[in-house]
Amino acid sequence: MSNNLSRRKFLKVVAGSGIAGFGVMVTGCKGESPGGKGWIPDQYQGKGDFPVALKGRVSIAADNPSIERDDEKCILCGQCIEACEKVMGVYGNYPLPLKKEVACVNCGQCSMWCPSGAITEKRNIKDVLAAIEDSSKHVVVQTAPATKVSLGEEFGMEPGSIVGEKIVGALKAAGFDAVFDTCFSADLTIMEEAAEFIHRLTKAQDEIPHLTSCCPGWVKYCEYFYPELMHNLSTCKSPQSMLGAVVKSYYAQKKGINPEDIVSVSIMPCTAKKFEAARPEMEVDGHQDTDFVLTTRELAVLLKYKKVDLTKVEDAQYDSALGESSGAGRIFGASGGVTEAAVRTAYFMATGSNPPDALLEWKPVRGMTAVKEATADIPGVGSVSIAVCSGLKNARDLLDGIKASGHSKWQFIEFMACPGGCIGGGGQPKADASLIADAKLKRIDAIYREDVNAPKRCSHDNAEIKAIYKDFFEKPLSEKAEKYLHTSYTNRHDRLFD
Ligand code: SF4
Ligand code: SF4
Repeated sequence: MSNNLSRRKFLKVVAGSGIAGFGVMVTGCKGESPGGKGWIPDQYQGKGDFPVALKGRVSIAADNPSIERDDEKCILCGQCIEACEKVMGVYGNYPLPLKKEVACVNCGQCSMWCPSGAITEKRNIKDVLAAIEDSSKHVVVQTAPATKVSLGEEFGMEPGSIVGEKIVGALKAAGFDAVFDTCFSADLTIMEEAAEFIHRLTKAQDEIPHLTSCCPGWVKYCEYFYPELMHNLSTCKSPQSMLGAVVKSYYAQKKGINPEDIVSVSIMPCTAKKFEAARPEMEVDGHQDTDFVLTTRELAVLLKYKKVDLTKVEDAQYDSALGESSGAGRIFGASGGVTEAAVRTAYFMATGSNPPDALLEWKPVRGMTAVKEATADIPGVGSVSIAVCSGLKNARDLLDGIKASGHSKWQFIEFMACPGGCIGGGGQPKADASLIADAKLKRIDAIYREDVNAPKRCSHDNAEIKAIYKDFFEKPLSEKAEKYLHTSYTNRHDRLFD
């Protein structure tokens, strides 16, 4: 952005601004690699030279739906600034004085890095408990793929333990009326997004490169900093919001339940999902798609409050209609998963055949690397060039490169705000600094084991997906699908910039 400040100039302005929320002394950052050493900062790991220099902190607006700070716990160590600036590319990338709002994409990475526990997610546990205890309400809950490979850590299990069926048993024991799988709606997202991508490739080239839209932190980042690319964003709602929309329409009709009486809860690895749930665009027929979002960490608190021990609970199965998932839906939780899943179904939509084995084990798009590149050869469509990016600072570098060169060499780009994708989300279990990198790799490994072990590997083979199109949506991108499953975006640029 031409009106961005350089870091040096930004800090100079901050130091002289007196804006509440910035510390008394703002120093430059050290050279350590951001995000690579877990959430406990260097100065706490060995030498014990506490107290550290005061370095300031990020501003958090009182009405931020995702995170909050307990000022009594804040030690002004500046770790939240490190995360917000160096990992997410937000702090330091807008001018001061602040304009219409405090810049925040709600990612929660600052909560992962805050050593004193001052920053946490804004909790909705009491709201959900009240809904469960209200007998007039039908409370449904969905569980995200990344939560199914991480919640066990909160109960002393090894990172990478797959606990999906245990979570279903635990949620039923805790009193939820129906438990659905976000991997089902990830399959639904893929049906819509693959069809949309093929349409853009063949008939709407001005909307290429196609940018994924399932990560709410990335979407808000695009709205703040790259509004000129909003028309390249997929119009598909995220799996969270798609599932909420079909719960209050298709499922409500099937069960004969008034949508007004349904409370739609989601369990997510992500604090930005709380922001997404509250977006005015995420409603249909006057019903908000998602009523409450709990992070993985909040779910652990809720289950412990309800005295449900995940290690002892009986396994249970997801409820029907919105409970079946393919391997493609299960890999959404890792960076590259959306891309791999979309390519599997785009291949089928273009050729009428399932993809070859190489595209079912598509290694170039997997793993923690910041930017991965790959090419998919799809008969009838051609050679599709793809990039997969996680970590918003990496997204900034990639997009600024495209802007500088004037063109994109990629036709499809997946963006995930958090490094490694949702497995590293801001609502995930925290771990000791020496263990967090290993924990993330084990969560990724578990995600791909889930895929390999799935009876069906492709979204279009999911029997409940076939049923919802036969009984309700007719076909991808139909008028009804557009109404319930697609959305629009809001240009937020002028909230930060003149
Ligand atoms: S990381 Fe936590 S303790 Fe440190 S300045 Fe930020 S809010 Fe305060
Ligand atoms: S939630 Fe993300 S964008 Fe917001 S202050 Fe924290 S690190 Fe920065």
